Amino acid sequence: MLPPLARRFVAGESAASALEHTRRLNDDDIGVILNLLGEHYHERAPAEADAEAYCRLIEDVAETDLRARLSVKPTQLGLFVGEDTFRELLTRVVECASDHGIVVWIDMEDYTTTDATLDAFEHHAREHGNVGVCLQANLKRTSGDLQRLADLPGKVRLVKGAYDPPPEVAYQDSARVDEAFETHLEYMFEHFTDGIAVGSHDPAMLARAATLHQEYDTPYEVQMLMGVRQRAQRDLARRQAVWQYAPYGSKWLSYFYRRVTENVDNAKFALRALRP
Ligand SMILES: Cc1cc2nc3c(=O)[nH]c(=O)nc-3n(C[C@H](O)[C@H](O)[C@H](O)COP(=O)(O)OP(=O)(O)OC[C@H]3O[C@@H](n4cnc5c(N)ncnc54)[C@H](O)[C@@H]3O)c2cc1C
Repeated sequence: MLPPLARRFVAGESAASALEHTRRLNDDDIGVILNLLGEHYHERAPAEADAEAYCRLIEDVAETDLRARLSVKPTQLGLFVGEDTFRELLTRVVECASDHGIVVWIDMEDYTTTDATLDAFEHHAREHGNVGVCLQANLKRTSGDLQRLADLPGKVRLVKGAYDPPPEVAYQDSARVDEAFETHLEYMFEHFTDGIAVGSHDPAMLARAATLHQEYDTPYEVQMLMGVRQRAQRDLARRQAVWQYAPYGSKWLSYFYRRVTENVDNAKFALRALRP
């Protein structure tokens, strides 16, 4: 069972609890991006099981009036089994979602998966349009990738990058990553007509996005993780589109560990909750 400590960051172990969470957030005008926890599968069976679980989730969402989307990980849908498996399972999920007008986001994982992820995104963006992909500002290649995506339908989420790529391919210094994030944001506001998502909790990046929105008048949405800056999410949602990324499922432990170790405020929360 999900311990109370993890409930801040994870929307329960079942699809039903994730949908309950979605309804609560929707009441505060926050949309929810649901992610079934799972990644790095080296066998087809768990990848296929997760693709089926996403299709069932899509059917469940379609029976409600919930504002919900999905976010899937390429290695969850079989990228390590083979690119063909990934493409096949992603197609299954995107087609289920497309039938119900639901958007499927594709998370970006380790830099070795970027090409396969973008190729799959491009295919589905041209074919269905109901897809989005994440780009990481810490990767040196990202300005080229943004140019490639600028003329495609579909959505793009810009994040700083959660992985630890080597210096040959990525900026190591956080100030340099922030600088790249701002440069990419400006490119997106200037060249994308729609579909910009700013995936950050950083007040400086969010302020920059708000300024660029005033300058270029391009619509955008803010995306934040469940459990992080929750009050800010509700405040922002009063004036603009906010989507919360909410993971759920039984494989919550490593996700929870990542959240409490990446940020001092998250770690303080965990320590406070553990205090007798
Ligand atoms: C919706 C979403 C989807 C994501 N998808 C991906 C993905 O597909 N691939 C990937 O590599 N990464 C992804 N990430 C993670 C991302 O790359 C970053 O690792 C993560 O968001 C931390 O960076 P940050 O921009 O929030 O700011 P940070 O650089 O972590 O923090 C900057 C500032 O933000 C504020 N802040 C941050 N966290 C807190 C907190 N807990 N409490 C209070 N203030 C805080 C503080 O002022 C802090 O100084 C995603 C993030 C989000 C929000």
